[in-house]
Amino acid sequence: MYEDTIAAIATPLGEGGIGIVRVSGPEAVEIAKLIFRAKNKNWTAAGSHHLFYGHIVDREGVVVDEALLSYMQAPYTYTREDIVEINCHGGIVPLRRVLELVLGCGARLAEPGEFSKRAFLNGRLDLAQAESVIDIIRARTDAGLKLAVSQLRGELSRHIFSLQHKLLGLLAQLEAVVDFPEEGLEESAAAEIMVISKDLLSEIEQLIKGAETGKIYREGISTVIIGRPNVGKSSLLNAMLREDRAIVTEIPGTTRDIIEEILNIRGIPLKIIDTAGLRETEDEVEKIGVARTRDSIGRADLILLVLDAARGLAGGDRSIIESIGEKKSIILLNKVDVAEIKIEQGEVESLAPGSPVLWISAEQGTGLSELEDTIVDMVLGGRAPSSDTVLVASLRHKQALEKAASHLAEAINGIHGKLPLDMVSIDLRSAWENLGEITGSTSTEDLLDRIFADFCIGK
Ligand code: GDP
Ligand code: ZN
Repeated sequence: MYEDTIAAIATPLGEGGIGIVRVSGPEAVEIAKLIFRAKNKNWTAAGSHHLFYGHIVDREGVVVDEALLSYMQAPYTYTREDIVEINCHGGIVPLRRVLELVLGCGARLAEPGEFSKRAFLNGRLDLAQAESVIDIIRARTDAGLKLAVSQLRGELSRHIFSLQHKLLGLLAQLEAVVDFPEEGLEESAAAEIMVISKDLLSEIEQLIKGAETGKIYREGISTVIIGRPNVGKSSLLNAMLREDRAIVTEIPGTTRDIIEEILNIRGIPLKIIDTAGLRETEDEVEKIGVARTRDSIGRADLILLVLDAARGLAGGDRSIIESIGEKKSIILLNKVDVAEIKIEQGEVESLAPGSPVLWISAEQGTGLSELEDTIVDMVLGGRAPSSDTVLVASLRHKQALEKAASHLAEAINGIHGKLPLDMVSIDLRSAWENLGEITGSTSTEDLLDRIFADFCIGK
């Protein structure tokens, strides 16, 4: 347990109905007694996990704000320490005044993520669970939220612990053989260790594969809408958003600023960008837009290329099609609603082999649901997760799994090549440690510092 008591504003700074100052540590209750006046002076007697009505007062006894105070006694709290949460009015000034009073009574301002770090170090959460808190806060879709909540509930951690447990079993088996070298490694023992190692490796590889999907749900897909001016890019974005945030206009080249929106496509956050028309231009302002378009193609995971079916393929369209290169892209023949279609699907397909070509009308909303299907297929590659798969969502976890996999592969090679068993055992131990970095059972102080520094203050 820590000696000092920490405090921070736990709600966003701005106007809100309520705002919360969170205080955690051995002095939390004493500090609250100094600044909180309840009708019942002896409020702590009511016991843990109660909510009290009263006023926050300064040293002169002047009322600062009306407040509800929740009192939670260790160990059944987020940090496993005594926690007091002061719910006052959600304005910048009342929150800062209350925080100042708390700090004035001896608390220290919490570092970002320090509450969660204490929760981890006091054994309330493992590291993967603590990390999921930030993913819950930042979740962009229901699917992303569900993934993060399952991690908070320990789904991933249980999986990792079971892998670690099996590795320990292997290590014990190896040790037994190493301790009695005169008997040598019996063929049967070697074969058994080999089989279990391969099973473990394939389980880890499965998790690594799933990480691609997890990352998609967690971080989303950067998508860019490109095409010549007036083909209907902004209209498409609007149709997808079903609201009028982008500028739709008759004049070519007016979408000069890049507009970014986040769409929710069947749980996948699509970070979508509408760009200025991609074409050579004399107009300086538009040039900036064109340069940015090229730039955003480079950074995009997925390209939606719009062609105007009412106008037929122009030279400009061909060079845009060329510019997508090997990127994942979907080609949209827009304005399918017009009387005369001047574009040939076959020609477009031959220019961009491998990219699906769809007919849509941005204006009438035709073909949009097929577009969504195609996006999901393309992004997940038919790997839509079933509800009981454990998904790894964080890059850090994926990297730890990759390290574990490579050590395990080394171990397998070692057994195969009849290397000395203590060498094999070193690799297995490393794999075990790599897995432990995920749950925090084998992580170092600076790894922890780096992880929790990414949290916001008050969490
Ligand atoms: P952008 O320059 O590519 O962003 O194109 P806009 O979205 O600004 O659209 C250019 C023009 O095409 C506007 O007049 C739109 O109303 C029109 N337009 C866009 N989509 C469609 C469509 O599906 N059908 C028809 N008939 N017109 C469309
Ligand atoms: Zn536009």
